[in-house]
Amino acid sequence: MTAEIINGKDLAQELRNEMKEEVTELIQKGLTPHLTVVLVGDNPASRSYVRGKEKAASEVGIESSLIELPESTSEDELLSLIQQLNTDERIHGILVQLPLPKQIREQEVIEAISPAKDVDGFHPINIGRMMTGEDTFLPCTPYGILTMLQSKNIEIEGKHAVIIGRSNIVGKPVGQLLLNENATVTYCHSRTADLKAYTQKADILVAAIGRANAITSDYIKEGAVVIDVGINRLDNGKLTGDVDFAGAMKKASYVTPVPKGVGPMTIAMLLKNTIKAAKGLASIGK
Ligand code: NDP
Repeated sequence: MTAEIINGKDLAQELRNEMKEEVTELIQKGLTPHLTVVLVGDNPASRSYVRGKEKAASEVGIESSLIELPESTSEDELLSLIQQLNTDERIHGILVQLPLPKQIREQEVIEAISPAKDVDGFHPINIGRMMTGEDTFLPCTPYGILTMLQSKNIEIEGKHAVIIGRSNIVGKPVGQLLLNENATVTYCHSRTADLKAYTQKADILVAAIGRANAITSDYIKEGAVVIDVGINRLDNGKLTGDVDFAGAMKKASYVTPVPKGVGPMTIAMLLKNTIKAAKGLASIGK
């Protein structure tokens, strides 16, 4: 068996093309979606993610602005900036790039962002709405994963989804979204005893661990759908996922590659959320 690759790069491009049309129409109606990204410190990976987000935003016609703050920024300074952005009517989406320097508590910052501008979908109000199945800003990576599954008409209802990883930004919410779609969900993590016993039963296997090639083909059930969220840089500089891609290709029915998989989808969903925020705020303003 050779798996089909779910190409996130191509799907993200399709979505950006659609969004470009929608943004053009919004601009004609006088609404230019505006995303503000706040970058604190000089983490090279964060800088590269932020560049990717700005480039994608500009491609679809979303205005973006970058506010760069020094590594020494205090929590109070960042919180007061967020307050200003919350009340600035020209700004629809606020994204504070994580991780933050040690002196700043991330949760305080996440909770300071207006839920109506929380395009990352990390605010507890939006997480709560996701859990109760209400319309809200879904966290971008899980939202991207769901969109990838839907793009291939992969059945989720009644399937056993096994999630490896329980972070607040990936593992927990992707399990919740699949549960909302009527999957039966199992969460695994670093304290799971006998990880393989669970993963071998997965119809849909999501790896969000952060360990290069940790999931070899013996973890994968024949015909499973394998979603590789991990982004790991090898000593030779190349990026690789959490899944042994060649092994998965021989056993799974669908596999997402790294790069060109979940990563580009994450950014596309951020743009979707920004458009949603702009439309939502504009309708409140009327
Ligand atoms: P975290 O480090 O926050 O979480 C990793 C999770 O993996 C934890 O829940 C941890 O368990 C679990 N874990 C670690 N080692 C093992 C193991 N040996 N067996 C089973 N579980 C294990 O990472 P994130 O969720 O933020 O990110 C995960 C990966 O996805 C990273 O490579 C990251 O770069 C990538 N990523 C990719 C994105 C994209 O757009 N493609 C977006 C966000 C992240 P425990 O909770 O017990 O510690």
